[in-house]
This record gives sequence, structure tokens and C-alpha cells, in this order.
Amino acid sequence: MAVSAERLPDFLRGLPKAELHIHIEGSLEPELIFAMAERNQVALAYPDVASLRAAYAFSDLQSFLDIYYAGASVLLTEADFFDMAWAYFLRAKADNILHSELFFDPQTHTARGVPMATVIDGLRRACDRAQIELGVRAELILCFLRHLSEEDALATYEEARPHRGKFIGVGLDSSEVGHPPEKFARVFAQARKDGLRAVAHAGEEGPPAYIWSALDVLKAERIDHGVQALRDPALVKRLAEEGVPLTVCPLSNIKLCVFKTLAEHNLRALLDAGLIATVNSDDPAYFGGYLNQNFLETFDALGLDASHAATLARNSFNASFASAAQKRDDLDRLDAYLDQAGVR
Ligand SMILES: [Zn+2]
Repeated sequence: MAVSAERLPDFLRGLPKAELHIHIEGSLEPELIFAMAERNQVALAYPDVASLRAAYAFSDLQSFLDIYYAGASVLLTEADFFDMAWAYFLRAKADNILHSELFFDPQTHTARGVPMATVIDGLRRACDRAQIELGVRAELILCFLRHLSEEDALATYEEARPHRGKFIGVGLDSSEVGHPPEKFARVFAQARKDGLRAVAHAGEEGPPAYIWSALDVLKAERIDHGVQALRDPALVKRLAEEGVPLTVCPLSNIKLCVFKTLAEHNLRALLDAGLIATVNSDDPAYFGGYLNQNFLETFDALGLDASHAATLARNSFNASFASAAQKRDDLDRLDAYLDQAGVR
């Protein structure tokens, strides 16, 4: 192996990569939550940064979502959405992310009276500036909250529709179990008809059946998480044959108790099964780390090496919704990095 165990952490840090599963509201650090609460005069249920951080001990997805929605309540103005995304892009740049696709949850904000344009314009402005000033390419994917009704999702989509030049796709997130993808068949069909890309969270806590219906009913082009796929050999065969990417989030899976420890995580098994797995940070402010931290801890726990890193980085670019020319650029930069490190 061309990269020694000692050099592997630096190799992982410098690796050019794409991030395809990051909820921008989940990048809101406690310090920024408190700063925004103060400038917007929003009352928080926690007296200070330390007590908010201390509350980040989750037992499952729902216990996390309760705190996540409380944190998002400080976001009111276009500047808030810009500042939140900009803070993420600085981290993305530091982690050598060349291309990022950010999920955002408009219903979390419009339900509090924040206009759709405020949300989308603030985020889009940060994306455009990240490209120019940081060289981090960024796109937005509008996610529907699956614990709400499809009628709510349809109304949200109608509100967002005039802005659809500013986001590239739709996704599905929030509480998975009891809210199967097929609940959102109509709104996804409409978005696809409008030329948007489709992704969906499936198989995080939910059963393999949700991955099947995300593919068959929603026509999802990527599965977010998907780690439960290994429970269903026929599904694994299909995902491999069709080359459906999985956006895996290792530290998130540990924090939300999908796996007990990182050493028990199935990322290596997913790769060994021939699946197009990628590594992502999900909600980094809440789950203990941004993208490089996910790489470092997961590689250490699973004993992965530089060839796995090359595969994961290549997967991340190939699985992205970048144009063919952009993907070529990204893959060229990856290849140059690998050549220099003697990995190939
Ligand atoms: Zn997620």
C-alpha cells in the first residue's frame, strides 16, 4: 500500500471529495444558534451553549429531531440562512470538498412564518459566493418532511416552484418509520415532471421495503443512508446492478444508535457488496463531526485503507448531480491527487 497507516489521516484530509448528504440546518453550531437567537430576540429553552451541547445525547432519530427543530427556530432572515450556509462552506473548503449538495427543509421555516424566498435566496446567495470565493461548488435540494402530510408537501412545492432555477432536486427526510416513501408519490412525480432530480432517505431506521418504494414509486436516483439494504439480498443485487448510490453517514448512524459502535458499521460490507457507497456528515453540528471527521473515525474503526478512500471519493463525484464536464474536472483533480500519493 502506497500510503502508510501513519500518513493515512493526512491523506484522507487532503483527499478531494464531494458531500451529497448534509442538511444545512444540521450544520448550525450552538454558538451560531445563540448568536442568532440574540440578534433575532428568540427565546431558547437552554440557558447557554454548554447546556445546549449537553442535550445532544440522542437515543434515536426522533430524540434528535426534537432538538434539531428547536435549533432551527432562530433562523428568521435571509442573512441568517446565508450565515448558516457560509459557516458550512468554510468547513467544506477546509475538508477539501470540491462539490456539495445541500438539503434544506423549507417546511421547518415556512411553518414559522418565514417566507420561502427568504430561505431559498439566503442559501442560494451563499452557494454562489462559495463557488466564487472558496472554489466549492454547491447546489440545493429541497426536502419534504415526511412526518407531515403529502398535502403539506404539495403546498410547499407549489410555493417553491417559482424558485426552481435555484435548486436542482427534491428529497425526503425527517422521521422515517411509519412514513414510507409512497406517501409522497404525487409530489415527487410533479417535481420530476418539472425536471428536478429525486433522492430520498430510506433504510436508515426503516426497512428495506422503503428503499424498494423509494426507487419504484419516487424514482429516487440516490438513496440517502440505505444501510438497511444489506438485510435484503435481492435489493443488494438490484442496487449493485443499477449502480444506485448510497449516501452513508457513519457518525450519524452511531449518534442515532443505528449501529452500536463504528467498528460494527457496515460501510466496508456495502463496498464489498459492490454498492456505490459514499461517506457524508448528515447533521455535522449535532453528530460530532464534519466530513473529514467521518472519514478519519470510520477508517480507523473499520481498518480501511487508501484504496477504499479512492473508491469512496470517486463514488462521491460519480454519484453527484454535477454536469459531465464538472465531474470530469473533479475526477481529474482526484486522479492527480492519487497519482501524487502513489495510489492507483
Ligand atoms: Zn439525513
